[in-house]
Amino acid sequence: MNRIIAVVGGGAAGCMAAVSAARSAAGEPVQIILLEEGKGIGAKIRITGNGRCNLTNLQIRPEHYYSVEQADPMRIYEKYSPDALRSFFEERGVFLHSRGDLIYPLTDRADTVAELFERELLREKVQVQYDARIREIRREGKRFLLRDEHGNSWQADTVILATGGLTGKRLGCRGDGYALSQQMGLHVTDCFPALTYLKTDCAGLAAADGVRCEAELKLLIGDKVTAQERGELQITKKGLSGIVCFQISHPAAQALRTGREVILQIDFAPDITDDQLRKQILERMKKVPEENPALSELFFGMIHPGAAAMIIRGSGQVEERKARKLHPEELMKLLKQIKVFRVRITGTGDYEEAQVTAGGVRMKDLNENLEAADCEGLYLCGELLDVDGLCGGYNLTFAMCSGAVCGMAAAEKISRMISQGG
Ligand SMILES: Cc1cc2nc3c(=O)[nH]c(=O)nc-3n(C[C@H](O)[C@H](O)[C@H](O)COP(=O)(O)OP(=O)(O)OC[C@H]3O[C@@H](n4cnc5c(N)ncnc54)[C@H](O)[C@@H]3O)c2cc1C
Repeated sequence: MNRIIAVVGGGAAGCMAAVSAARSAAGEPVQIILLEEGKGIGAKIRITGNGRCNLTNLQIRPEHYYSVEQADPMRIYEKYSPDALRSFFEERGVFLHSRGDLIYPLTDRADTVAELFERELLREKVQVQYDARIREIRREGKRFLLRDEHGNSWQADTVILATGGLTGKRLGCRGDGYALSQQMGLHVTDCFPALTYLKTDCAGLAAADGVRCEAELKLLIGDKVTAQERGELQITKKGLSGIVCFQISHPAAQALRTGREVILQIDFAPDITDDQLRKQILERMKKVPEENPALSELFFGMIHPGAAAMIIRGSGQVEERKARKLHPEELMKLLKQIKVFRVRITGTGDYEEAQVTAGGVRMKDLNENLEAADCEGLYLCGELLDVDGLCGGYNLTFAMCSGAVCGMAAAEKISRMISQGG
């Protein structure tokens, strides 16, 4: 009788799990089945990195990850490292290249990564079943029974859940994995969208719609700087966006969910020193009594006019107002906001506008092979778990490395079962 390893979900984690399981179980009487609710594998992989797929990073450290319950994702990399992941691609003929520390396929096509998985699944003789949305999982004796929404069922000796999170409903990510995990007695933490934009009630937002400028951001939670980022800030009518905002969206969302005040402090001129700004402000203030410029004029040449408009409107003024109408102290205060502009964060983008789900299945319920401590033979990997990374290839790295760990461990377990004649 063939032993069966069932993998639920054909994203980056599930594909890697299936391929790794097949390779590790080579020569054994084992069938790997990949159950995917969609019509193809790797639908999300194909849209990553703006279609180029930033699949990993040369620097992977603990500070690149968040976890609602402070789980340690690095333990996964001790079992399957990001170096091993790069070799996985290179050994199969996918050349890689870097932009800084960010790694992409040399083709700069995310499709190359999805297509490699298609080829590997075929080569490793993984049986792929599409249109199989698994809705039920339970134990039947020593085996597992999986049932999809059409009533079709599969038996398996070990199961790897790799159903992703809640980001990308249109791609089949509706959080099914949480309910399946709970059916097997696992716990799911609070979940929320991350790597998304920030909403603010700043009155100047609309005036800066379309602005893209270099900025340094400090996220203040209860007056404490919790995160800091520098890079291109993108401002739209909806809120503050760009990778700089995505990177701090997790702590911002988590704080908002516990009712704490979240402030974003923006430095619109990070390359101008405090001293330079002070001198420049004094120079410009000297001209006010005589020239009486419009408020916007006082910001000229230091920051983007849209950013200036945001500061001016955010302070309850309008750009056309004449500088003499303001008390000199008020003017100084206004101009100083070039480097210290504070806005209140009121929310973040939703799952449709986010790249990952923060939170997930509690890691402390799993052993070092990502096997459920209280349910032998059940493994979990990828975004379904309570780990989310920053932008920069950290999420795909975690998805694929955790998938590899599950695949290898599930195959090893089956080998033991076979050798024990169980
Ligand atoms: C727009 C965008 C860009 C991104 N860019 C990057 C990037 O460049 N680099 C990076 O590292 N990360 C990026 N990410 C994040 C990264 O894509 C994900 O973290 C990663 O793909 C998660 O992989 P996964 O396999 O765990 O889950 P998913 O990719 O979500 O795969 C889960 C699979 O399970 C299937 N499924 C769900 N429920 C069921 C069910 N009940 N039965 C059967 N099948 C089911 C789904 O159809 C899906 O195929 C990006 C995300 C988005 C949305």
